[in-house]
Amino acid sequence: MAQRYVRVQDLQGRIYYGLLQLNQNVQVLDAPPWLQGQPIDLELAPEGYQLLAPCAPSKIVAVGKNYVEHAAEMGSNVPKEPLLFLKPSTAIIATSTAIVYPPQSQRVDYEGELALVIGDRTSNCTPQEADNKIWGYTIANDVTARDLQQKDNQWTRAKGFDTFCPLGPWIVRELNAAATLQTFLNDNIVPVQSTSIEQMVFSPNFLVAYISQIMTLLPGDVILTGTPSGVGALQIGDRIRVEIEGIGRLENTVVAPATIIS
Ligand code: MG
Repeated sequence: MAQRYVRVQDLQGRIYYGLLQLNQNVQVLDAPPWLQGQPIDLELAPEGYQLLAPCAPSKIVAVGKNYVEHAAEMGSNVPKEPLLFLKPSTAIIATSTAIVYPPQSQRVDYEGELALVIGDRTSNCTPQEADNKIWGYTIANDVTARDLQQKDNQWTRAKGFDTFCPLGPWIVRELNAAATLQTFLNDNIVPVQSTSIEQMVFSPNFLVAYISQIMTLLPGDVILTGTPSGVGALQIGDRIRVEIEGIGRLENTVVAPATIIS
């Protein structure tokens, strides 16, 4: 099993990067692993921590329509060059936490995606150099208010709600280039999305190089590589699970917005 790099919060609220052990203990590191964090004399037992999203990026750069069949289901072709947008870092939530269905939308969709985690400060790199800039891989759900995306012409509101970026559960360093990505809704055994990530139009290395010509990527930044076909609506009470072979499972529930007490 590949080494799993996690970020956790202990019962006192302290946040640590660490290595998840087979017995579910977390070996704590003194810094993020992409900043050469080293093990310290502290191990947390399962009852002593809660999993957080595995990194805390300065920005999330996302790619639209990076699978041919998904572009087709959205009624368009794949763009000639990557279509980029940003999600705010405040949208990130961990696995096993809740996506809040915003009252402004009547149509919220899941989008299972492979996420890249950047290890170095990266500017103007080539696709060949990008290979060394990608520190690891995790799973994301690019939750989208589809009605607002269509209404607004640009995507900030539709993609930017708090809780709209489940990320995790951990980072692995290596990934099979043909790994399977699947998304499951509730207890259905048939996935609603299923593809090999090699069906991606613009590869991870190409995307990192392309983005780095525009903005400097910082250690811990996250790139969402686009969703395959099969996107669909979420309802309050649903459970949505994205799985990538060789990484694991990212699962979240959908809840109603909390009643606002004025
Ligand atoms: Mg997406």
